[in-house]
Amino acid sequence: MDIESTIRDVPNFPKKGIIFKDITTLLKNPKALRYKVQEMLKFCQGKQVDIVVGIESRGFISGALLAYELGCGFVPVRKPGKLPAETISESYTLEYGTNTVEIHTDAIAKGQKVLIIDDLLATGGTAKATCKLVERLGGDIVGLAFIIELVFLKARDELSQYDVFSVVQYD
Ligand code: AMP
Repeated sequence: MDIESTIRDVPNFPKKGIIFKDITTLLKNPKALRYKVQEMLKFCQGKQVDIVVGIESRGFISGALLAYELGCGFVPVRKPGKLPAETISESYTLEYGTNTVEIHTDAIAKGQKVLIIDDLLATGGTAKATCKLVERLGGDIVGLAFIIELVFLKARDELSQYDVFSVVQYD
């Protein structure tokens, strides 16, 4: 499956100089949608997963599909002020600015096996901050999976202690 051809490049979004990898064109393609879920499921083979954590907002789409297929629960990691109950937060530097992510304090029980999902791995800041949230709650990270990896930003250096998977890589 040529999944790359279903991903749309949008230059200068959300800021000048950024080439935004738009996955809405992948998601609306039934074959591409199925393919990327299947590839992520292959990565999960042999892993015990109790909880899938999806990062707002595009990580919710793959994350929920995967949690359903794996028969486990889904937990959202969200931008500040969105989660209604008690939260913990981590701040990080993004490819275009800074941001904070939050998780409910009761979202993960100590020792639960956690798979983290997002649409795109750029600098790895968002993923690293999410790992910190999960680990502060006592979760055990069994892997991180992304649709797209911008390999030239070397996020894997940040995430070297984890098992990282991406469906499509851009060098
Ligand atoms: P980072 O923390 O640098 O790994 O950035 C990852 C997050 O920012 C993901 O949630 C992406 O959705 C978003 N992001 C960063 N760069 C891009 C890009 N070039 N195209 C689309 N999304 C991006």
